[in-house]
Amino acid sequence: PKSETPELVVEDVTVRFAGLVALDAVGFTVRPGTVHAVIGPNGAGKSTCFNVLSGVYRATSGSVRFGGRELTGLPPHRISELGIARTFQNLALSAALSVEDNLMLGRYRLTRAGIVASGLRLPRARREEARHLARVREIADFAGIAHRLKEPAGGLPYGDQKRVELARALCAEPRLLMLDEPVAGMNATERLEMAELIVAVRAGLGISIVLVEHDMGMVMRLADRVTVLDFGKRIADGTPGEVQEDPAVLRAYLGE
Ligand code: ADP
Ligand code: MG
Repeated sequence: PKSETPELVVEDVTVRFAGLVALDAVGFTVRPGTVHAVIGPNGAGKSTCFNVLSGVYRATSGSVRFGGRELTGLPPHRISELGIARTFQNLALSAALSVEDNLMLGRYRLTRAGIVASGLRLPRARREEARHLARVREIADFAGIAHRLKEPAGGLPYGDQKRVELARALCAEPRLLMLDEPVAGMNATERLEMAELIVAVRAGLGISIVLVEHDMGMVMRLADRVTVLDFGKRIADGTPGEVQEDPAVLRAYLGE
């Protein structure tokens, strides 16, 4: 439910790699139940920002708080337990596994019975598996891939694979979902369908979304707020309309 969705506060986050400042004191706030886009030219620091939020990279300094709780220094699995799920810029599905099994893997953090009990097919584990399967089918239906559940994920059209990825992230029952370029490589129809799905995730499930996206049309259509990065610095922050007319943003994109 929307009221329980915490706020994400990124404050003064700096990430240094040997000799390079990938993020330079970047801050922004994601309000509950909104779509917040992080945009910027190539190399601006968008993926680095994602990797800090999901615990893959550790910030050199600064803080990230989710519902008042400090995330800095937590490993990725702890962050996902707190209700933050992500997709990757490049597909990260298990190609040989069925869509259904990929989605079941997405429920892993919720599995109580554990791997051993499931392997032995103990009654409690079987009941739990049935509950997870029912939820997986609901989510597949929501994401428009219910008819694909038994197919190997690797054989699906690209647009459907991207939906499976999003659905798999939803299977973890997140309160915040981070999408790294969800429409990259898609044709116009697939883009529109993915945009509809993202709107449904926010409106229907009340999940906040952090969106890294190159396609400005998508950002303008979907985002409630936009943070613009360039060379690791925040150069603008505001509504899509505001940042679109910001001279610094125009300069950054024209210079790309
Ligand atoms: P974006 O996603 O906006 O294109 P990135 O966050 O991938 O930008 O990269 C920002 C800068 O940090 C780039 O100059 C990139 O080369 C550098 N960078 C990213 N990850 C690493 C890393 N693991 N080691 C060294 N440099 C990196
Ligand atoms: Mg990137």
